[in-house]
Amino acid sequence: YDYTLVNKMVKEVEKSIYETIEFDKTNEILLGVDLGTAYIVLVALDKYRRPIATEMEYANVVRDGLVVDFIGATNIVRRLKRKLEDKLNAELKYAAIAVPPGTSARDCDTHRYVVERAGLEVVKVLDEPTAANAVLNIKDGVIVDIGGGTTGLSIIKENKVIYTADEPTGGTHLSLVIAGNYKIDFESAEEIKKDKYKQKEIFPIVLPVIKKIASIIKKHILESKTDVNSIFLVGGTSCLEGIEQVIEKETGIQTTKPYNPLFITPLGIALNC
Ligand code: ATP
Repeated sequence: YDYTLVNKMVKEVEKSIYETIEFDKTNEILLGVDLGTAYIVLVALDKYRRPIATEMEYANVVRDGLVVDFIGATNIVRRLKRKLEDKLNAELKYAAIAVPPGTSARDCDTHRYVVERAGLEVVKVLDEPTAANAVLNIKDGVIVDIGGGTTGLSIIKENKVIYTADEPTGGTHLSLVIAGNYKIDFESAEEIKKDKYKQKEIFPIVLPVIKKIASIIKKHILESKTDVNSIFLVGGTSCLEGIEQVIEKETGIQTTKPYNPLFITPLGIALNC
């Protein structure tokens, strides 16, 4: 798999957090809103699908794919929307959103209402693996989304998602283990975990959790009774240096990841707007 184009787009998303990017203001802006357990991310694209502005905020309003703080979530989306509008000097009207596979119709509606209350018309509701694959374009393989609260897995055969699963182990569990080990609070543990200079030191501490994630992946691949040759990692926790090697060793399946896997799903949501 060649990540060249994917990585180029993700770097543009990253750049659009800090830089003003010129675009044609007469055209509609495509917007993706990703409500996650750890972050809420808004990615805006121009009509050529080029990233033009990104905003994100750490949030504790969604748990395991379900909105647990409706007002809090709405306020954050509204605030990030305003920030984007100020940056772009343009009005944002439409958005696409995504939910984990298997989310009930009622919970999908709650996601939608959050974004609509923030002043956006929701034009599409996707499932997360479909969003991620809009960026990766994988024909055969497994996309594993290691997020904050959960690890989601989708097996793709001949361009179609044929099996999905979502299990409650993710980055939060890594941070809890770090917090326990160093006797520090959760927020400090999160900071240490995301600091690439400290990741070598914490790696042995979080290794059992990564192995647990690998065993979840292995179990579902076996249950799906499909032949799988490659694993593609996305989601914030996949940023951890060396995580792909552990998963490859534990599953015996070639495992790769793009540059900054945190932005794959939010970018894919925007591409579908
Ligand atoms: P979920 O998918 O479970 O609903 P989410 O969508 O918020 O959660 P992501 O935004 O994909 O998930 O990832 C969030 C997780 O990624 C958090 O646990 C965060 O600590 C972790 N994370 C973010 N950046 C890094 C990094 N550089 N290294 C390690 N972990 C990271």
